[in-house]
Amino acid sequence: MKPSHIEHIGIAVTNLEKSIELYEKILGQQCNNIEEVPDQKARTAFFKIGQTRIELLESTDPEGAIAKFIAKKGEGIHHIAFAVNNIEEKIKYAERQGIQLINSVPRKGVDNMNIAFLNPKSTGGVLMEICEKINS
Ligand code: ZN
Repeated sequence: MKPSHIEHIGIAVTNLEKSIELYEKILGQQCNNIEEVPDQKARTAFFKIGQTRIELLESTDPEGAIAKFIAKKGEGIHHIAFAVNNIEEKIKYAERQGIQLINSVPRKGVDNMNIAFLNPKSTGGVLMEICEKINS
């Protein structure tokens, strides 16, 4: 994959407002932006730390992936996202390595990025995302 850096760490939370307050207290900085992601049935809040962001994810639907994750594992780290160049090529690379993907075609994520998730069954139980900024 040769990612350039960790783009963000996704954290599943039950109450976005409460978690924003908590992270503002812990980090001593304001939340950068809040965004609705209908595609993922979630609302997200970002904190920028250097090149990396903390992405808090709250489900907007009890049937959504984040709600299901919290029901199963509780609040906490949900996924790690690696910044890559040429995401289509990296998807093909993963396939050649025998790594299963949830998205074999990149889809549009938040903040103008193309994203694809790797299947945690292929990554030792960690949900990994690769992402590429559009027009970068
Ligand atoms: Zn993500």
